Amino acid sequence: RNNAEKFEFQAEVSRLMDIIINSLYSNKDIFLRELISNASDALDKIRFLSLTNKEILGEGDNAKLEIQIKLDKEKKILSIRDRGIGMTKEDLIKNLGTIAKSGTSAFVEKMQTSGDLNLIGQFGVGFYSVYLVADYVGVISKHNDDKQYVWESKADGAFAISEDTWNEPLGRGTEIRLHLREEAGEYLEESKLKELVKKYSEFINFPIYIWASKEVDVEVHTDEDEEEPSSESSSSEEDSGDEDAVKSEDEEKKSKTKTVKETTYEWELLNDVKAVWLRNPKEVTDEEYIKFYHSLAKDFSDDKPLAWSHFTAEGDVEFKAVLFVPPKAPYNLYESYYNASKSNLKLYVRRVFISDEFDELLPKYLSFLKGLVDSDTLPLNVSREMLQQHSSLKTIKKKLIRKALDMIRRIADEDSDESTETEKKDERSLDDDEKRGQYAKFWNEFGKSIKLGIIEDATNRNRLAKLLRFESSKSEGKLTSLDEYISRMKSGQKDIFYITGSSKEQLEKSPFLERLKKKNYEALLDFFFPFRFHAKSFTSILSFLLVFSNLEHVIFFTDPVDEYLMQYLMDYEDKKFQNVSKEGLKIGKDAKNKELKESFKDLTKWWKSALSSENVDDVKISNRLDNTPCVVVTSKYGWSANMERIMQSQTL
Ligand code: ADP
Ligand code: MG
Repeated sequence: RNNAEKFEFQAEVSRLMDIIINSLYSNKDIFLRELISNASDALDKIRFLSLTNKEILGEGDNAKLEIQIKLDKEKKILSIRDRGIGMTKEDLIKNLGTIAKSGTSAFVEKMQTSGDLNLIGQFGVGFYSVYLVADYVGVISKHNDDKQYVWESKADGAFAISEDTWNEPLGRGTEIRLHLREEAGEYLEESKLKELVKKYSEFINFPIYIWASKEVDVEVHTDEDEEEPSSESSSSEEDSGDEDAVKSEDEEKKSKTKTVKETTYEWELLNDVKAVWLRNPKEVTDEEYIKFYHSLAKDFSDDKPLAWSHFTAEGDVEFKAVLFVPPKAPYNLYESYYNASKSNLKLYVRRVFISDEFDELLPKYLSFLKGLVDSDTLPLNVSREMLQQHSSLKTIKKKLIRKALDMIRRIADEDSDESTETEKKDERSLDDDEKRGQYAKFWNEFGKSIKLGIIEDATNRNRLAKLLRFESSKSEGKLTSLDEYISRMKSGQKDIFYITGSSKEQLEKSPFLERLKKKNYEALLDFFFPFRFHAKSFTSILSFLLVFSNLEHVIFFTDPVDEYLMQYLMDYEDKKFQNVSKEGLKIGKDAKNKELKESFKDLTKWWKSALSSENVDDVKISNRLDNTPCVVVTSKYGWSANMERIMQSQTL
């Protein structure tokens, strides 16, 4: 084309396209749902804008918010068209090639190890999946603010943009034309496309049509003696009055009617645009929830969501919501955690999609949830900014958090051995076998979020504490809850013992645990800095320890976030948390302690002056060790050695 401008794909995008083109990935079907999902997003955008400005939709066909699929068997072209927001020339250049999204390189990396293209939509690069089936793709687009443009590329590192002077005007929206590869002929079969839409795009909220062929019976009048059709055309030249006369004459001649098959085309609707969340939960099947999750989360892996909750809130603020716990954490869950916009809930107001970037719906620590909220209470005709400040949002958020935590709790409850309760259908229904080990899976993927929740959300701290899991000195690789820990506490044990550090292996060797191991106690786990003196800024105490008492089981904390966590979680069910590497550890009753202190007084005094106050605050007798002669512990209110290590690694 002589008016075409050429552009090169951004390097990562180019690599991504190469991978897609050369992929041996067998499930090429995925391109269609990606295109339909993009069309749906574009329609959501224009519908949202039209809330405050009706004119934006235009009139006639333009105002029809729908998706159309069309086939051209001869030219081997499959096209998908929407009347969504469309793209300006600038949009085409940026969105389809020159600006790499954060997910691009993450996806490229992922492809190198797994090759599972199914996840492409989650990485925000779904469009490029068209090159699984096409070797040449054209994107025609018309945005209200610009002329109609064509983007085209053979995926050879470059694309071209031209002002569209030859295609039919779209009015508004986008048409993607796929020139299918030789081996992708199956996508020219209507039946295949219908099947795919049913399978993957059932929950798209706009009507999807296909230009479907239909065999119809057509009655053709034939003359018994004369089968030449030319006689009819000649009759049409006569004026209407005579025509009637001719027909009646024909009938008199007893011309026979014959039925022949003829192919006609018409738009056939492929989905019934049902809003799952508006239906009665009792009538929605598990399979429907699972499929709805796939569609909502753009997660088309074989994994099922770990849990879901579908409910209606009534009262001052009315809304319906469906929440899902995904089977896996997204690749960027904890990336720029406090900076990035995080919500994964879609907000609808009276069935109209408003936004999926409303941070006000869920706190950051619950941003791993997927789902949807539809409220009748919120106003429709206001800007996003106004909506963001609407007082109802606080109530919605509060209720969502409650429901979310209940849902997570349920995974844990149903996973535990005792649970034989019959579960409520609308909330979670997996087979008993499927429930086993579900919480460990949850914890593995999202445990950090729960810990962050304890730091962020004072109101729900206790609820969240119930969801915590740790390894302990006695859990043998399994996870233990605080409740379980407490239930195993020895009589007379007042505190929950824990130790923090970088790995379980290190912690298990810690001299701090000597006593409790010997006495068969349990500790939650972390790490130990052997003989490192903390100068000045840190208060450290060298404790000279002789052994008598019995330390209980200790919890192991190995995640850096655990250190922060423990600054917020002071106690649980009236039990204090006691870091076993800190001063003030009380292990059972120290009957002989006083005596000991007295008899070693000279030694501790000498030692303290020998080390000087720059290095240690004090030297004490303690009962926490067994074989190791002495250890360095931190003062009660100082940073633990592990915390110091974390702080150091952050400043370096
Ligand atoms: P994602 O949909 O996750 O953003 P894609 O690779 O599927 O990633 O699409 C890239 C971008 O191209 C979209 O964000 C959107 O801006 C634009 N786009 C794609 N298809 C359409 C369409 N049918 N209408 C308008 N914009 C589109
Ligand atoms: Mg997309």
